[in-house]
Amino acid sequence: MNTSRIPFVAGNWKMNLTPSEAIRYLDEFAVLLPTDHAYEVALFPSYLVVPFVIGNLLKRRDIHVGAQNLSDRESGAFTGEVSAPMLTDAGCRYVLIGHSERRKIYGETDELLAKKLSMALQHKLSVVYCIGETLAEREANQTFDVIDQQLKNLIALPHESRPNITIAYEPVWAIGTGLNATPAQAQEVHHVIRTTMSDHWNDTGKNMRILYGGSVTPANAKELFACPDVDGGLVGGASLKPDSFYNICRAAE
Ligand code: PEP
Repeated sequence: MNTSRIPFVAGNWKMNLTPSEAIRYLDEFAVLLPTDHAYEVALFPSYLVVPFVIGNLLKRRDIHVGAQNLSDRESGAFTGEVSAPMLTDAGCRYVLIGHSERRKIYGETDELLAKKLSMALQHKLSVVYCIGETLAEREANQTFDVIDQQLKNLIALPHESRPNITIAYEPVWAIGTGLNATPAQAQEVHHVIRTTMSDHWNDTGKNMRILYGGSVTPANAKELFACPDVDGGLVGGASLKPDSFYNICRAAE
């Protein structure tokens, strides 16, 4: 799927919203969101909630669904894991890979993330690949070195997979803290990401979507999404209420 910079707003519910809460959410959200929006919308419920959301959205093909994680293995004796073919078969279009909570709390390394990337892409999932520096790294002026390192897995991808990648720049210090990056800070890093990706992927890199994530709210979304290299947002906390998420979606118009 070549989505060439169509604005994209993705809601990462993390480990929130039970199946019945999700269904109530969708009832409200489907009333708020018109079907003919010019931006793409996706929801990322927990694994267990994914089939409830997909089942409930049968009449709303304009709202896409993704998983928050996947296994690096295809099938077999891996208790507690969920595979890429399961996600595809369940109707997921997207998967998040490299979220800072997976990197930090579950120790996911760039090496493991490369395997997850390859598994997702082999099974036709589109990937939202998260990168971003910690506060200590920013304060030590290492932001661009960290970003460079984290982009290596993407740079190595074969040509045919590249159109299925969206990058989410999520400064770790801004996630769930209420401290969003300023539009200038976001734009500076997004511009470097786009330049790096165009250097390696030519037009596919130049035209890829790069989302900002980290304490996006209805109050700051418009300014952040207006930055020339920001193509929308990956939204955590503020995606948990349908009206708040809808107001963020509208900022991508
Ligand atoms: C996220 O989890 O990807 C995120 C950006 O969270 P929040 O919006 O709550 O900072």
